[in-house]
Amino acid sequence: MCVKKAIPAGDVIASRLGDVLGRGAVLTGDAIGPEYRCDESLHGSPAEPAAVLRPGSTAEVSAAVKAAAELSVPVTARGAGTGLSGACVPVAGGVVISFERMAAVLEIDDANHVAVVQPGLTLAELDARTRGHGLVYPVFPGTSAATLGGNVATNAGEVIRSGRFVKNATGYDLTQLITGSEGTLALVSEATLRLHPRLTATASLLAPFGSVDDVARVIPQIVTSGLQPMICEYIDRGTMTGLLRASDLRLGIPAQVAARTGAYLVLVLESRTAERLADDVADAAARLGEAGAYDVYVLLEGQGADLLAAREQAFWMVKAAGADDLIDMVVPRSRIPEYLRRVQELARQHGSRVFGCGHAGDGNIHFPVYEPDERKRSGLLQDIFAMGVSIGGAISGEHGIGRAKKRYYQALEDPAKLALQRRIKAAFDPAGVLNPGCVFDLAEAGPAATSMR
Ligand SMILES: Cc1cc2nc3c(=O)[nH]c(=O)nc-3n(C[C@H](O)[C@H](O)[C@H](O)COP(=O)(O)OP(=O)(O)OC[C@H]3O[C@@H](n4cnc5c(N)ncnc54)[C@H](O)[C@@H]3O)c2cc1C
Repeated sequence: MCVKKAIPAGDVIASRLGDVLGRGAVLTGDAIGPEYRCDESLHGSPAEPAAVLRPGSTAEVSAAVKAAAELSVPVTARGAGTGLSGACVPVAGGVVISFERMAAVLEIDDANHVAVVQPGLTLAELDARTRGHGLVYPVFPGTSAATLGGNVATNAGEVIRSGRFVKNATGYDLTQLITGSEGTLALVSEATLRLHPRLTATASLLAPFGSVDDVARVIPQIVTSGLQPMICEYIDRGTMTGLLRASDLRLGIPAQVAARTGAYLVLVLESRTAERLADDVADAAARLGEAGAYDVYVLLEGQGADLLAAREQAFWMVKAAGADDLIDMVVPRSRIPEYLRRVQELARQHGSRVFGCGHAGDGNIHFPVYEPDERKRSGLLQDIFAMGVSIGGAISGEHGIGRAKKRYYQALEDPAKLALQRRIKAAFDPAGVLNPGCVFDLAEAGPAATSMR
């Protein structure tokens, strides 16, 4: 039977948690800024927490979660709030644990290529610190304002590990279980990250193709070539036009080529020496040419960086253009052409507009959806997800399920797998207070499901 508990009043929560953390670490009332109520997802309602907790140590995080569990108060961890699935939107009347006071690099271990960091550190700050060591944390999501805690919780980059060793066969891999769990199983108070040597010779290639289909066909060839591009992205013609216009960028592509182009492939190659890089560039250019690229442009150093910076603005561009949702399905690379084609067919059938660009090298395609009618949009998303799953894909490659995609996830995921996940959730979070309503519906999240919201 489901035990329904009401959340205690806000002043009770603030007083009890103030006792645990000290009054200065607890924000209430007007001190809670609007940024703590939402993330960057394109729709969904903000929610007002009773308190924002800002712990300063692992011990304080632990004490805060323990006190919240005793009070049956929902706890939502928050990094930078750049998430795109509503995962860090709090439960109304619950608490937010914000890691802004835990943002230190604790250690960079050059010998083992490891960094030990606190969860509130941003990717930009980590990159600045590793640079001087000739090392890099090679996870470059579209925003470097994201925190490492948020990256772990959304599995942005899949590079977390829990020791300084390079392999491990010691019991269940709990690290991978926590990774991507969106704050529903545990809070990350420290992370040990694998670093890589920072390669200095890099080149950005831009290849225009006649159609998205042509680009999609060349991607598996590039991936299996051994070139190991650091970035392999496709940008469709409409998105590229918008990006160049928005960033006032000129790449020197002749107008007659641009006019025939349906989509572009962007490759960033890197190597230890300029000679090796030159070999790889020649190899990539030959492959792209054979696959039907109209031409291959090796961008000047500044142009390459500017194009990537512009690409990072793609989300803000589609948001400004009024996109109503964002799909980030991942499909097997060999099925990308079929997926792209069928998404467009479904969009036409529903009378909605869908454009795209994406991390094509890993089969993760980002589609902004322009359909203001919520019922129609939901039907379109359901059909796209069902089609993608039927060809071996998964609903989210990196943005997560959060609150935004959970209804599709519940509808399309294997019921046996969902049941197992609920049991795992209950084992980690018996009080059912960790980010309820995220991934699962509130009533299904754990044994102490509540009547909130
Ligand atoms: C412009 C733009 C581009 C983006 N591009 C990419 C991209 O290319 N690839 C990609 O993967 N993502 C991308 N994202 C999404 C987002 O940046 C990532 O999901 C990122 O990992 C979120 O980090 P955050 O610190 O903002 O986390 P938040 O949004 O604050 O939280 C995200 C989730 O992590 C949980 N969480 C946060 N901190 C902790 C912690 N310490 N312990 C436990 N749980 C925690 C939250 O509860 C929530 O469930 C993009 C977002 C934007 C706005």
